[in-house]
Amino acid sequence: MKKAGILGGGQLGRMLLQAAANYPVETFVMENDAQCPAAHLCHHFTKGDISNFDDVYNFGKDLDVLTIEIESVNEEALEKLEKEGIKVYPSPGALRVIKNKILQKQFYKENGIPTSNFIVTQNIEDIRSNASFLPAVNKIGMGGYDGKGVQVIKTSADIEKGFDAPGVLEKMVSIKKEIAIIVAVSNSGQTVLYPPVDMVFDPMLNLLDYQISPADIPEKTLWKAEAIALKVVKGLQSAGLFAVELFIDINDEVLVNETAPRVHNSGHHSIEANYSSQFDMLWRVMLDYPLGNTKHILPAAIVNIVGSDGQSGNAYYEGLPEVLKMDNVFVHLYGKRTTKPGRKMGHVTILSNEKQELIHKANLIKRTLKVVSK
Ligand code: ADP
Repeated sequence: MKKAGILGGGQLGRMLLQAAANYPVETFVMENDAQCPAAHLCHHFTKGDISNFDDVYNFGKDLDVLTIEIESVNEEALEKLEKEGIKVYPSPGALRVIKNKILQKQFYKENGIPTSNFIVTQNIEDIRSNASFLPAVNKIGMGGYDGKGVQVIKTSADIEKGFDAPGVLEKMVSIKKEIAIIVAVSNSGQTVLYPPVDMVFDPMLNLLDYQISPADIPEKTLWKAEAIALKVVKGLQSAGLFAVELFIDINDEVLVNETAPRVHNSGHHSIEANYSSQFDMLWRVMLDYPLGNTKHILPAAIVNIVGSDGQSGNAYYEGLPEVLKMDNVFVHLYGKRTTKPGRKMGHVTILSNEKQELIHKANLIKRTLKVVSK
């Protein structure tokens, strides 16, 4: 039986392990918190720092395959492990490019992949001397996550909000829609694409609010988006699973926002809504089995369950029985003991052929299910 490791033990790791239960694989997880969502679902848990060279190297050296559930891992250790014959998904080279927003944007440009214009800035002073580039979005090069490394700078008055660290200043896109396409790449370079997902954001939290799949876009836009997503993964030259986030602007141009080299929030519905889920698919890639069927069984919506405002401490789920009573509604809790405002605690998938029903139930669930502390 192959030994497979996951760096990071959050909800993505947890859902990967749920899918792993169907495969002949022995699972290992490393994370610095022994109470993390994935800790109790793997065969072997190691407490360690995924950003530390020695911890990652020692964790990986006796495994057959390794993957990540978050980008902030030590890629030097992954490079050494790859050289020693351990299969790493995504390849450390692809991870290095994606991890740094500066390198990621330069990669799009060099590969002729449409993305918003940008300049590289080292600090706030640099932003100030490029004020003619505004309105723009400043993104920190390293370490941004869940909207925390993104700052909108509309006018010179906002420049102080920028990052005093290396990053990119991207032209503000007039966004009509944000979509995401997940692509899987096998070891032999075969690719499969999932239907695109419409992402609807909460402007206050800057976190994914709810999403609908398949996205409601014209066929021509779909073809453009699929061609761009494929170009991204071909350019990265790595097997694995990738989520390409795209903007459709008001002129129907399709631009890449960013790529995640791992299972992604925009693919959670695939557990129930698609023949092969994104988690199932990554195991097929990692264990060198045939790729699965990405087609959707029914259209789906995902609602994130996040910690309510003003509630911090042990987590309780108000309204859970009411939601569990609903037809074609699937609740996933991530097993986090404590809640805080905006913390991702779970998600709910809704299936229906009727878009109106998806939206209606999504809103009902958002009103009914609350994460509180007592
Ligand atoms: P994160 O990786 O933290 O999720 P993103 O790069 O995806 O950050 O940006 C978060 C959100 O900010 C995007 O979903 C989008 O709504 C907005 N945004 C990002 N870049 C631009 C841009 N160039 N123009 C307009 N809005 C943007």
